[in-house]
Amino acid sequence: MNGQMQQPPLLISNLLIHAERHHGEQEVVSRRVEGDIHRTTYRELAARARRMANALKTLGIGQGQRVATLAWNGYRHMELYYAVSGSGAVLHTLNPRLHADWLVYIIEHAEDQIVFFDMSFLPLIQAIAPRLKCVKTFVALSDPDNMAGTDLPGLLCYEDLIATHGDQFDWPALDENAASSLCYTSGTTGNPKGVLYSHRSTLLHAFSAALPDALNCSARDAILPVVPMFHVNAWGLPYIACMVGAKLVFPGPSLDGKSLYELFETEGVTLSAGVPTVWQALLAHVEGKALSFSTMKRTVIGGSACPPAMMRAFQDKHGVAVLHAWGMTETSPLGTICTFKPSQLALSLEERYAIQAKQGRAVFGVDIKIVGDDGAELPWDGQSSGDLLVRGPWVVSEYMRGEGGNPLRDANGKSWFPTGDVATIDAHGFMQITDRAKDVIKSGGEWIGSIDLENIAMAHPAVAMAACIAVPHPKWDERPLLVVVKKTGAQLTREELISFYDGKIAKWWTPNDVVFVDAIPLGATGKMLKQRLREQFKDHVLPAA
Ligand code: ADP
Repeated sequence: MNGQMQQPPLLISNLLIHAERHHGEQEVVSRRVEGDIHRTTYRELAARARRMANALKTLGIGQGQRVATLAWNGYRHMELYYAVSGSGAVLHTLNPRLHADWLVYIIEHAEDQIVFFDMSFLPLIQAIAPRLKCVKTFVALSDPDNMAGTDLPGLLCYEDLIATHGDQFDWPALDENAASSLCYTSGTTGNPKGVLYSHRSTLLHAFSAALPDALNCSARDAILPVVPMFHVNAWGLPYIACMVGAKLVFPGPSLDGKSLYELFETEGVTLSAGVPTVWQALLAHVEGKALSFSTMKRTVIGGSACPPAMMRAFQDKHGVAVLHAWGMTETSPLGTICTFKPSQLALSLEERYAIQAKQGRAVFGVDIKIVGDDGAELPWDGQSSGDLLVRGPWVVSEYMRGEGGNPLRDANGKSWFPTGDVATIDAHGFMQITDRAKDVIKSGGEWIGSIDLENIAMAHPAVAMAACIAVPHPKWDERPLLVVVKKTGAQLTREELISFYDGKIAKWWTPNDVVFVDAIPLGATGKMLKQRLREQFKDHVLPAA
């Protein structure tokens, strides 16, 4: 017997329809590439998204075709999130920090028909345009004045398209399993691979991510996604905000501490999200100027492990709760998030910090497990570490064009996605990433987790950033080398930093050497490029013990 309930498909357009009807007056504020602050509402944004949907039709974009953006976080980008996906096309968000050759590869691989870009990326577009065979149209996210004299044949103007198309558009009743958006993995291992999200996966992810034990989002929030809209859809926040009717604040290209702090304060931001490296700049600004946050209540930190020292700075000094989260492009991205269970509330501060250093427990919809080399599941004892596997309705089942074959691993007849991360899970279900499989340090057949070693270094007051990598060792195969950026003006010696590990970790985990550098290379999503460091220091000679 079937249930007798309605079955409207779960569509991205419904999020915007809801925001317009029920939160039409809610604000969307953007710092623009032009430099000024722009204010709009969901009501206006929805009307403009419909105009853009009409424009896409005029430009010949049909269902399933890919439309790319090369843009910072802002209201026009948000309009495209809805205009493109809502009308049945696939929104492909490009990461402007990628090397030009990768951008060309990805655009061609996806067969993008149109590229919408912020004017600040014009030189990049001019450089790659001749190599793009599939792209038929380029559109500048600009008004006519700000693109005067631009030298790109056939370039269209976003505001002209908006102005010349009507705001009547019926969002099509698509199949909820149709592709809605596309993100490529960063390609730190092999070619970037395309992950195609569906309307259904996007909505289910938004429902789950908004829950109280996840991001706890409501209409009373003002959300500022620092995480770019080209990094796994800003972790779902542009969808979640419409779902709950929250105010949205977009930082545009200005991700420095001062600009972010100003927006947090002037717009009453309550929730933010980003990778650890951006928060470092913000905290340095706030602490350098003895400022405080007057409205910020919590921030999501993920993408790389949040150093406990950063967590303490946010929570103890500024009263901003840190939500440590884990995910990846292949998981839309939210997989786990660290919020306490009731039995943990009474623990001491130190015990609670030990829990918060973990990436947390699975949100509903995602299941996790760890397995050993033989594929057998490992116990949830907080000690056994193994390959982390995930599954759920917003976890990838296959890469675009079937690249790399079936990525799933079959165990007991069920399909799990191997994340490439190495983790433990404790008896309460809290998962902790000890490493990415490719970053693990293998010393004498045993594993040393580089994240633990980095977290300790980052807790030293003179350390701004630290990466721990494996270097070859004649006796132990590999040993840890610490690559460190000192805080401006700070004094620190190799010996001082090595003795800082005493009593904090098993003696044999202590790094064998420290090198001080001016900067650690960061990848396109703000993560430390350890592969590059391993190359750079592959001939590093460790001092004799
Ligand atoms: P890439 O790092 O290849 O650009 P993603 O942006 O999808 O790809 O990143 C996913 C990876 O980032 C995860 O597999 C994991 O290694 C790492 N990661 C994400 N969140 C965390 C976290 N909170 N702690 C540690 N590692 C994390």
